[in-house]
Amino acid sequence: MNLVLLGPPGAGKGTIAGIVREKLGIPHISTGDLFRAAIKNETPLGLKVKEILASGELVPDSVTVDMVKERIAQSDCKNGMILDGFPRTVYQADELAKMVKIDHVINFSLSEESVVKRLSGRRMCVSTGKIYHIIYNPPKVEGKDDDTGEPLIQRDDDKEDAIRNRLKVYQESTEPLITYYKEKGLLRTIDASAAPDAVAESFLTALNL
Ligand code: ADP
Repeated sequence: MNLVLLGPPGAGKGTIAGIVREKLGIPHISTGDLFRAAIKNETPLGLKVKEILASGELVPDSVTVDMVKERIAQSDCKNGMILDGFPRTVYQADELAKMVKIDHVINFSLSEESVVKRLSGRRMCVSTGKIYHIIYNPPKVEGKDDDTGEPLIQRDDDKEDAIRNRLKVYQESTEPLITYYKEKGLLRTIDASAAPDAVAESFLTALNL
């Protein structure tokens, strides 16, 4: 099963994908995580995209599409995947349609006010990708990953100016995908304002699981 997660930054796509991926038995592919790993490892791709991510702008389509093509050619994707953060533009959606058949698109619906609250309190472990929130989902030990004990970071793009820019970019470039997938009959919208376990349940219900 090939799934696409749509919705504004901070809607909880990565958190929910982390909860449901074992049940579904397919990998979670987050383009944001792939870019952050490249930045951390200082690869040529990482050096190219570092400033773009920090500002909240989008990485050029061609760079993103090439990275996704390479990732989904790996053997763990043969039974499907959960795509999170891709596609983010109509161009990317058209390119994706040439690579795999999308079964469902789940649209995470959340108000702008909640987005800002969630993102400004978000912390994450760069190596495991696990996401926390200082109030809603704190780690067991402050500032440390529950599994590895590594220090948690605040993403550069979770600072206020970048958050506002990401919302603008989302509205201009990504929101049109809601209509794009609705017209293809693939879209299901869920309320992303509840706690993670409840959103995960609505997610599975939307897939009839
Ligand atoms: P968010 O919390 O905004 O959903 P992500 O972790 O998905 O964040 O992405 C972080 C950043 O990585 C984006 O702001 C953008 O710069 C870049 N990025 C991720 N996916 C894409 C994409 N499909 N196209 C272009 N840029 C992307």
